Amino acid sequence: MADLDPDRFLAELHALRAIGGVSDAHKGVVRRAFSPEDVAARLWLAEQFAEAGLEPVIDPAGNVWGLGGPLLIGSHTDTQPEGGWLDGALGVIAGLAVARANPGVSVVSFQDEEGRFGATTGSEIWSGALPLAEADALTDLDGVSFGTARRALPATGDFPDPARFAAYLEAHIEQGPVLDTAGERAGVVTAIVGLRQIDVTLTGRQNHAGTTPMHLRVDALRGLSDADHAIRDALRNIATPQSVWTIGHVQLHPNAPSAVPGRVRFTVQWRDAEAGRLDRMEAAIRDALDAVAASARLALEVSETSGLPPVAMDPDLQDALAAAAAEVEAPGAWRRMPSGALHDATNVSRLMPVGMLFAPSIGGISHAFEEDTAEADLVTCLRILAGAAARLA
Ligand SMILES: [Zn+2]
Repeated sequence: MADLDPDRFLAELHALRAIGGVSDAHKGVVRRAFSPEDVAARLWLAEQFAEAGLEPVIDPAGNVWGLGGPLLIGSHTDTQPEGGWLDGALGVIAGLAVARANPGVSVVSFQDEEGRFGATTGSEIWSGALPLAEADALTDLDGVSFGTARRALPATGDFPDPARFAAYLEAHIEQGPVLDTAGERAGVVTAIVGLRQIDVTLTGRQNHAGTTPMHLRVDALRGLSDADHAIRDALRNIATPQSVWTIGHVQLHPNAPSAVPGRVRFTVQWRDAEAGRLDRMEAAIRDALDAVAASARLALEVSETSGLPPVAMDPDLQDALAAAAAEVEAPGAWRRMPSGALHDATNVSRLMPVGMLFAPSIGGISHAFEEDTAEADLVTCLRILAGAAARLA
């Protein structure tokens, strides 16, 4: 076994960045799942796994495995259409570096975490939540199916048996501003937040914008405006600083300068790490919509609620990461925090205990070419991950 080698870790992060790197002006990369760049990166990764003494396996979903010991460490190496160099890559290359120094570790790069076809598709398939045959029918925005796309990376083996692993650790950039703003070096994740969403339709009376007196209007857009205010008021006493909600997608009808809007459709989405608070937020949002519709004389339709439950990180894995963080960093330079973004760990939690570690994102920027993290913080992240892995061995 070799010692932990931070310089080699950074060099390999840059080597991976070169596969799909698009400009000298920034560090951004484009490696959409199963694109030629993604396939090249995954074949390169399989070579690194073999060289590190791990057994490389590319499974039928395009997940790349370096099989070794029972502690699985990983993330993903596919990117957004305009991706950063660290989103996913950090967790995979850190896993490789830890595996070189610790025989108890296996490494994985899950496929299509960034949702060219679904969302966290590769880990969803491996976890059993999404049958491969169903995944094959998923299509990207150009109509290419997962089943067709995955021929670009032929499998070299079957899906590894989850029973060979005891736990999963994922290091990832925070993709938000909390650590960077506080000047902190690391975050031990407590939970991945749950998400709920409803589709709302408010219907009023479409009419002429010049001849309809103001007091006779039944304006659907007024309902949306009131709903935005009413939801904010209703959530004031329920939300924590970590709770978020968004009116995201809006369709106004007829969306014309000279027509009083007759109908508006919009989504309301909210996220929190606690299921009970998601319930209370939902009740408050639905009550606020009822009140707005009644006072603006609009007809209200609300869809069933869709979403994902929050996923708690395993307490023992959190403690191992926290103990390692306390050893690597001075007290006060790291924190426990929820993850507002979805990760492969969500799916893996169906199979085994999971834990996550965050590195700061400069300016909180992610899913953009400008995404970056100070190299000293990347090395801190690696050292904490290695420390946690040693404690769990
Ligand atoms: Zn990611």
